[in-house]
Amino acid sequence: MHSYYLLKLYKLKKVFIIGSGVAGLSCAIRLKSEGYDVHVFEKNKDAGGKISELKENGFRFDMGPSLFTMPHLIEDLFKLSKKNIKSYFNYKKKENICNYFYEDGTSFCAPSDKKHFAKKASDVFNVTEKEINSYFEKSKKKFDLTKSVFLEKSLHKSENYFSKETLKAVFNISTLDVNKSLSSLNEKTFKDKRLAQYFNRFSTYNGSSPYKTPAIMSMIPHLEHHYGTFFPEGGMKEISKSLYKLAKDIGVKFNFETSIEKILVKNKKAIGLTVNSKTKFADTVISNADINHTYNKLLSDQYHPKNKLNQEKSSSALIFFWGIKKRFNNIDLHNIFFSSDYKKEFDNIFEKKLISDDPTVYINSTCKENPNDAPKGCENWFTMINVPHNDGQDWKKIIKDSRKNIIKKLNKNLKTDISKLIVYESILDPSQIELNTNSDKGALYGSSSNSMFSAFLRHPNFSNKIKNLYFCGGSVHPGGGIPLCLMSGKIVSDLIQKNPHLLN
Ligand code: FAD
Repeated sequence: MHSYYLLKLYKLKKVFIIGSGVAGLSCAIRLKSEGYDVHVFEKNKDAGGKISELKENGFRFDMGPSLFTMPHLIEDLFKLSKKNIKSYFNYKKKENICNYFYEDGTSFCAPSDKKHFAKKASDVFNVTEKEINSYFEKSKKKFDLTKSVFLEKSLHKSENYFSKETLKAVFNISTLDVNKSLSSLNEKTFKDKRLAQYFNRFSTYNGSSPYKTPAIMSMIPHLEHHYGTFFPEGGMKEISKSLYKLAKDIGVKFNFETSIEKILVKNKKAIGLTVNSKTKFADTVISNADINHTYNKLLSDQYHPKNKLNQEKSSSALIFFWGIKKRFNNIDLHNIFFSSDYKKEFDNIFEKKLISDDPTVYINSTCKENPNDAPKGCENWFTMINVPHNDGQDWKKIIKDSRKNIIKKLNKNLKTDISKLIVYESILDPSQIELNTNSDKGALYGSSSNSMFSAFLRHPNFSNKIKNLYFCGGSVHPGGGIPLCLMSGKIVSDLIQKNPHLLN
């Protein structure tokens, strides 16, 4: 019998979700669609977690994620809820993904389509179309071999260890390039250092170093060039706004400005939460909050899986939100100004926990797609550099030095004095990211993927010590970034529906 009717028959099963990040929202929508009585508790004023926005002085900025990929994962949630996505959320595909600027004066506008990319790359770099196509084919193979093993299911359930897909991945282990770093693969494949730097950049999509993360991560450019990149009408915040609206429309109940104090455990079973010193009971508890926060604050008196919690954290970000009093034709939605020494930049971030004098600078200017995001004649620049997670560094000094270095770099590349064009400024550093969302050390993606074992050392989506307790979001399996967080919401929803304790 369908779980919905079973639940109706036995009284709706109550589920509490801590946090309304994109994974919490995805999980809430899925469980509600299956008939569960779902309640979300969120410490902030609105839903979305790291997906947030800033509106000041006529400028609008997305404050968290800016690159939108794999929109079909969002479409699935609307289909499941039998709602027309178009009345909630609209997005368009980008023909060109990103403008790249190199210190030697090269600029490269990366097309989304693989064939166009290969053609254009062969015009700009010292590479043949054939070499690029072969790299993409290998990236696709890696993704196809691993997606169902590493991304779509729990990696920690014995029934998934010996599946057909797992065995296929194991037999093809040499294709996966797990025993070399991404940079060594790219530097061996591409003689042109600028192109190797382009492909090395994809390690930052999960907050890792290309000099450490295994070369299996070369599957990421396949995702970007196969599925494409997109822009949500109205900006990235529309992702969480529309999912929140969908969840509310189908009956998920939300409690904002409600910080959870404790997960209640009795006889090794999660039985509810403590909120404002009051006890609330449920059949299942899901934490979408960062896994370190969940154990350290909400499960402080329970067993802590130290090897999982002590994994090296991913990198974080330092962002200057600048209102710029000029229009630039060579700036698009996504723009990268590469550092001259990528190795030094990443060694600084991950070994020394410092920031280079010449950091890679990313500018996201949503007014290129959404003209209302900046006043006439102006641009909104989300100007970001990768930085170490918060380890108590002197952020005031780092902000001062980095501001100077970023401006120097942009002045050189854009041949203009940017400092004179800044008419609005706001700053977000790792300590503030930590405060806003309870993300341990302000890491953007939970733990880093700097080792070949990282995927196995992420916390599972369930507790193997406490029944009816689950985890979703960027700090647990399968990892950070909007697509993976959406997937973790699905994995948890699937696990709960299979849980015999809940249906008996
Ligand atoms: P989070 O967004 O971490 O939300 C968790 C929620 O739980 C928060 O709302 C928090 O307030 C709440 N919470 C925590 N503790 C409690 C408590 N005790 N009680 C109640 N509520 C609680 N991803 C991309 O795909 N593309 C990008 O371009 C990209 N760039 C990024 C740039 C930046 C600057 C940042 C910060 C992130 C970026 N990411 C990007 C990563 C992406 O934003 C995250 O992986 C994803 O949004 C995390 O979602 P989540 O479900 O893990 O929850």
